[in-house]
Formats: sequence, C-alpha cells, structure tokens
Amino acid sequence: MKIPSLICIILLSVFSPNFAQKDISSQISVIAEKEYPRLDELYKYLHANPELSNMEKNTSARVAKELREAGFEVTENVGGYGVVGVLKNGEGKTILVRADMDGLPIKEETGLPYASKITTKDDKGTDQPAMHACGHDIHISVLIGTARAMSQLKNQWKGTIVFIGQPAEEKVQGAYAMLKDGLYTRFPRPDYILGLHASASLPAGKVGYCPEYALANVNSVNITVYGEGGHGAYPHTTKDPIVLSAYLITQIQTIVSRQTSPLEPCVVTVGSIHGGSKHNIIPNEVKLQLTLRSYSEKVRQNTIESIKQICKGLAIAAGLPESKFPKVEIENETGFALYNNPELTEKVVKSLKSAIGENNVEKVPPVMAAEDFGELGKVEPPIPVCLYWLGTVAQEKYNESQATGLQLPPLHSSLYAPLPEPSIKTGVKTMTKAVIDLLADGSKKK
Ligand SMILES: [Zn+2]
Ligand SMILES: [Zn+2]
Repeated sequence: MKIPSLICIILLSVFSPNFAQKDISSQISVIAEKEYPRLDELYKYLHANPELSNMEKNTSARVAKELREAGFEVTENVGGYGVVGVLKNGEGKTILVRADMDGLPIKEETGLPYASKITTKDDKGTDQPAMHACGHDIHISVLIGTARAMSQLKNQWKGTIVFIGQPAEEKVQGAYAMLKDGLYTRFPRPDYILGLHASASLPAGKVGYCPEYALANVNSVNITVYGEGGHGAYPHTTKDPIVLSAYLITQIQTIVSRQTSPLEPCVVTVGSIHGGSKHNIIPNEVKLQLTLRSYSEKVRQNTIESIKQICKGLAIAAGLPESKFPKVEIENETGFALYNNPELTEKVVKSLKSAIGENNVEKVPPVMAAEDFGELGKVEPPIPVCLYWLGTVAQEKYNESQATGLQLPPLHSSLYAPLPEPSIKTGVKTMTKAVIDLLADGSKKK
C-alpha cells in the first residue's frame, strides 16, 4: 500500500463518527478506571453510614462536598436534605441526573467488612437499624463518578448539567419536596432527566432498560378496625375486631382476583397487623398497614374504593354502629407509575450499547416496585425521563442462581450485597456516555 493512501485511510477513520464514538467511550473508560479507588472509598463510607429517609444530613453534606470538588456550583437543603449541583459549559441542552440518598430501617446481615452496624433515629425519633439495602449508595457513587468524568471531559460537550442528590425516596416524598422547593425555578429547567437504579437480578457489568411503564403506582394505606372489646371467655358480649380483621384480609384478596381485569397489573399486600395484648382479652381495635400497586389510574382508584367498601360492608355485617366503621387512611397520593419516555429511552439505549457493548444491555420487563423518580418529569409541560437498571450481582452468584433456581437476595433484603467495583464502573461509563450523547444531540439541532 502506498503511503498517501494509508494516510487517507487513517484520516478517514479518525474523522468518521464511529471513531469519534469509540474515542469518547474509551476516554470515559479510562476516567472510570482512574477514578475508581476514590469512588470505592466513597461507596464503602456511604454503605457503612446509612441514614434514613428525611434524615440524610451527613450523606447530603458529603454529596455536596464531592460535587463542589468536581467543579459544580452547589446548593444544599433543597426540599429537605436535597442537594443540587450545576455545571454550565456554554450554550446547549440541560440534562438533570438524579441519585437518591436514603437507606432503610433494616439490620444488615451481609457480613461484609464494610457492613452497616448503625442504629439511628428515624424521622419520628424512633431508634432503628439502618442499611443501604436498595443500593442508593451505589447510585450516589455513580453520580459522583459521572460528575467527575463530565468535568474532565468538558471539551467534549456543551450545555448545562444539573446533578441532584434526592432525599426521602423510600417514603416517595423527596422528589416532590425538591420540586416544591423550586428545583426548576431556582435552577436550570432540564430538557431531559436521567437516573439509574441498582438491580438485584442483573449481573454487574450489565444494564437493563424498560421502555414506557417500568415501575408501578404506589399507595400506602393505614386501616384501623374498631370493635367492642371485652373478656375472651364472653365473646358474645363483644364485637371482635380480630375476627373482623381476618375477614377483611381475606375479602380484600378478591379485589385483585375478582374485581380487576386479569390483563391489568394490581397488587394488594397487607404488610403489618397489630392488635390485642393478651390471650383472654378481646381488644377494642386492630391496626393494619397495606401497600397497593398498579399501573393505571383507574385500577388504583378502584382498589382504594373497593377497600373502603369492603371495610364498610364488614362493619355493617358485624353490627357495628357507623361511628365504629373502620378508618381508612391513604398515604402518598403522589406515588405515580414511572413512564420511561420511549424516544428518550431509545437514545439512551444507543448510548448504553456504545458505552459497554451490545451484549451487556438487556431489555427487561416492568415490575411492581415503585420509585418517585417519575415525579420529576410530571410537571407542566412534562419533561421526558428515563431510568435504567444497573446490574450489581457478582457473576458467580448470578450463575449459581441460574443453575440452581435459588432466589438471589432482592432489593430491601438484609442480605443484599452488590458487588461495588464492576457495578459502579459500569454506572459511570453508561451514565457519562448517555449525558454526553444527549447534549451532543441537542447541540446538533441548534
Ligand atoms: Zn427501595
Ligand atoms: Zn431504591
């Protein structure tokens, strides 16, 4: 081959879009590797020091410090302990990336050297064990890694990035609280919103995506069943709220099986029941806590109405006066299903594939878990959002579970132990690539 034609080929390949893509992806990979020791230290600190919803004081201070060190302009205490970091880099689109920060009231049983041994106060002042059992410590580490990568790659993009640490996700309150506190009026309003969530069923090194509906509506329901208490040996002189609660629990199973279309997802779970103090006393009341999940608003409303109706019907059948009909309280009316904007998801999936290879990106089905991430896009006019799943399971544990059929510890389990290094590196590589591509996409249209 003659020298001039060789030069031609080299020049052509250097200036082809494919080369540029590979070049950015490999630069991001180099940064993810280089930054990992720092992110590992951050992750293990967060994992060992979880804070509960609305109590994320030290976590948010650390997030603020890390974002400042990455060159962001940072505001703290937005909607509680929310943190907002802004990095402006010329004209272009605005992208918001969100990580949630709260842990859960669970006693960790992973046996990891950096396991949480923390007992702390919840927002009602009660002592609770605490654990990052939902991987929010992974989310923060990826957010900071991505922030540092974006800062180092400033010559590769134009626009504005807004990186937020969100409090109180586990209570489905933090996103709404940050919006109410001026997330889009005090700070640049985003064109797109991105997030990721740790997956306890995908191996580390892989990511999953789910276009359109991905996570469900959620409502927490508190029911107080009243009765007329008395001696356990004279039940005929009482109205027993324990028997009434037993009827109630079995009756509400028919909401899903008999009142909801089999083609519509719906879950009614009684997660807690408390009543009575002794063998031979019929109590005055029993308290129940339920979680409801659905996708359509119609199913959500129908489930709530049916619970109220069944409560009323059972109280009438028991001969209770109206003043003693069960009290039904609905919490968190804002827990809407997460809808991943299909066009945005398509763009993000392209970036994910170019960052870590086509074989490491899987389409996954929707689940009935819930997240308040979707709330961030439910404004007027709406903002497209996309949240993808980040694999966190050690490959050998994943293989073993596939071979034996044994269930892996799910999210919210005291045994959930994500593998930090490949998970966080994959998170940083994919999220940085997605943000850079979206900003480039925006500047092309200008
Ligand atoms: Zn969770
Ligand atoms: Zn979570």
